Amino acid sequence: MENLIILGSGCAGLTAAIYAARANLSPLVLEGVQPGGQLTTTSEVENFPGFPEGVDGYDLTSRMRQQAERFGARFEFAEVKEARLDEDVKTLVCEGKTLECRALIIATGASPRLLGVPGEKALWGGNGVSSCATCDGAFYRGKEVVVIGGGDSAAEEALFLTHFASKVTLIHRRGELRASPIMAKRVVEHPKVAVAWFSTVNEMLAGEDGKARAVVLRDVRDDSLRELPCSGIFLAIGHVPNTKPFAAYLDLDGEGYFVPQPGSNVRTKVPGVFVAGDCADPHYRQAITAAGMGCQAAIEAERYTSTL
Ligand code: NAP
Repeated sequence: MENLIILGSGCAGLTAAIYAARANLSPLVLEGVQPGGQLTTTSEVENFPGFPEGVDGYDLTSRMRQQAERFGARFEFAEVKEARLDEDVKTLVCEGKTLECRALIIATGASPRLLGVPGEKALWGGNGVSSCATCDGAFYRGKEVVVIGGGDSAAEEALFLTHFASKVTLIHRRGELRASPIMAKRVVEHPKVAVAWFSTVNEMLAGEDGKARAVVLRDVRDDSLRELPCSGIFLAIGHVPNTKPFAAYLDLDGEGYFVPQPGSNVRTKVPGVFVAGDCADPHYRQAITAAGMGCQAAIEAERYTSTL
C-alpha cells in the first residue's frame, strides 16, 4: 500500500512529487507514455520564471525529476486502465499490476487533438502527420510543410519548423491568430512562413509511397477547395484532457476536464483524491500554472494523509 501515488510526470506531477517527497510522503510517480509531459516536446521555454535566457523543455522537466528523486520520490512506468476511488483505499488497475494508495494526485495532462479528416489516420506516426515539430521537424529538411492551428502551439511549431523546412504554411480557420501578440508577430513576419487564413483542412492526401503529399484546403468564406502540396502536416489544434479512467468518480466539464470543488483548484469530491495541471485546467494551461497546481495538490495530500 502506497501513501501517495502521483499519476503523471509533467510539470504538475513532478512539482507535486518534489513537495510530497520533501514532506516525507515517499510518493510513487507513475509515468505514462510521455515521461516529462508535453513540455518535453517544446524546444525553448521562454516564460518559465528563473530562466532569463530560456530553457529547453526536456532539460527543465529532467531537472524537476532529479529534484524530486533527491528527496525520495520513486518513478515507475504504468498506464492506469481503470480506477476505483469509492473506498478509503484507492485502487489503480494498470497493465500487469494493481496498485493501492491512501492519497492520489491525478496529473495526467492532455493529449494532442486530431482533426478526424480522411487520410489523417493513415498518415499519422511516420507517414507525414505529427503533432510534435521538436520530435519530427528534422525529417523535413528542405521540404514544404503545413501547421494547422492558430494558437501559441501552432506559432511555436511553425517557427521551429523554419529551421528545417523550405516553406511553412500556417493554416488557420479564422482571419486572426489566437496566439499571444509576440508569437503571432514573429510568425506572420517570418520570411519562410505563409498563412492560409480562413482555411480548414478537408482531407490529407498520400503519394504512391504512402507518405503525405498534400492537404485539401477549404476556404470557409466561399467553400472553394484547393490542394496545397506538403510533405509534413503538423497538428496544433489544442488538446484533449486525459481523464477517462476516472470519469465515473470525479466531476468533469463538457470537454472532459476535471472540475475541482468550489473554493479549491485541486480538491475533488472524493476525499484524498486531488487533480493538478492540464487535465484540470482548460483556462491557463501553462507550465508554471501546472507546477503551481502540483504544489497545491501535494500540500493538500500531505494534510489529508496526516489526518488518517
Ligand atoms: P489553443 O490556444 O486552444 O489553440 C488551438 C488552435 O487550434 C486555435 O487557434 C483554434 O482555432 C484551432 N483549432 C481548434 N480546433 C480546430 C479544428 N477542429 N480545426 C481547425 N482549427 C482548430 O491551443 P494551444 O495552441 O495548444 O495552446 C494551449 C495553451 O498553451 C494556451 O494557453 C497557450 O497560451 C499555451 N501555450 C503557450 C506557449 C508559450 O507561451 N510559449 C506555447 C504553447 C502553448 P480558433 O482560434 O479559431 O479557436
